[in-house]
Amino acid sequence: MSYLMRTYERLPVRFVRGEGVYLYDENGKRYLDFIAGVGVNALGHNHPALVGALTSQAKRLIHVSNLYENPWQEEVARKLVSEFHTNARVFFCNSGTESVEGALKLARKYWRDKGKDRWKFIAFERSFHGRTYGSLSATGQEKLHKGFEPLLPGFSYARLNDVDSVRKLVDENTAGVILEVIQGEGGVNEASEEFLSELQNLAQEKELLIIVDEVQTGIGRTGSFYAYEQTPLKPHIITLAKGLGGGVPIGAIIATEEVAESFTPGSHGSTFGGNPLACACASAVVDEVKKLLPNVVRVGEYMKERLRSLGKGKVKGRGLMLGLELSEDCKETVLRALERGLLVNCTAGKVLRFLPPLVIEEKHVDEAIEILGSVL
Ligand SMILES: *Cc1c(COP(=O)(O)O)cnc(C)c1O
Repeated sequence: MSYLMRTYERLPVRFVRGEGVYLYDENGKRYLDFIAGVGVNALGHNHPALVGALTSQAKRLIHVSNLYENPWQEEVARKLVSEFHTNARVFFCNSGTESVEGALKLARKYWRDKGKDRWKFIAFERSFHGRTYGSLSATGQEKLHKGFEPLLPGFSYARLNDVDSVRKLVDENTAGVILEVIQGEGGVNEASEEFLSELQNLAQEKELLIIVDEVQTGIGRTGSFYAYEQTPLKPHIITLAKGLGGGVPIGAIIATEEVAESFTPGSHGSTFGGNPLACACASAVVDEVKKLLPNVVRVGEYMKERLRSLGKGKVKGRGLMLGLELSEDCKETVLRALERGLLVNCTAGKVLRFLPPLVIEEKHVDEAIEILGSVL
């Protein structure tokens, strides 16, 4: 019997090691990894820069409390803010859901500090922001709420790419909007440039805080360091996790100076958040990812073309965050691909999702397309 809670439907394979874009199971069978721990293994497996940072930091200092100064956090924060559009400050946590929780708390506190009763959030249908109560409440998927009600009050859901649906939900108590510029778990749904431009204007007009959840889209995934950079949005807060540590758990909130002011000593915190080990790894990952951006754009375009040429459905997404919308449930396809040595994921019922390591090359795409072609 298993002593694990049954929260995951696990595929019947046990990986024992990884190298670059490949994973190996206990029988030595090789798998091309086009899901990368759901966008976590940004540098692939066993990357020398990450392993080097991890091992040398582990020998020096793994953890000190946030009671003390932490130069490792300062270094990563400086690198993250240098890619942000304005002066900003960073808070470190350990996961995506925590970064969203922190972002929601910060947005409410910002308005409270101004003496305004603005505490509601507008999120989007089919969004995904995490599994704890704040982030779950922001998640616009009924099936994930089921059985856990009552959720946090104050959340409503607009339709992506429909600015009127957002406008209708704004009232004098609205603190802000929270969105993914490409919805990941919801099926690789892209927010259109036109919509985001209208949303930016609406937010300006109504003084709404813009929170962009970059947990999946950030850290180079879509071809720019942050995905919002390719849009007209100027977010006040962004959330990060997944790729940031390349597999070592770390998350972050970045907020403009003005908004970040509202987190004063004692108002928010985390025991593990941004410890030296996690930050040394994130620092190495961020440096590598910056060098990989042209690769993400080039190989992403190439893969999009190759997916289109399969003629099996609509190709969605940008950079190396891509989806292929099939006409039927894709669970079977994932299993058949697994047998053939290709790891992909099925999300929103019929969208095959691809989140390969950012280090992949055209030849790996060719290998994946050949397997996909045979299993579809
Ligand atoms: C994965 C994800 C989260 C949750 O991250 P966890 O680390 O699993 O808590 C939040 N937002 C988005 C957009 C995600 O893709």
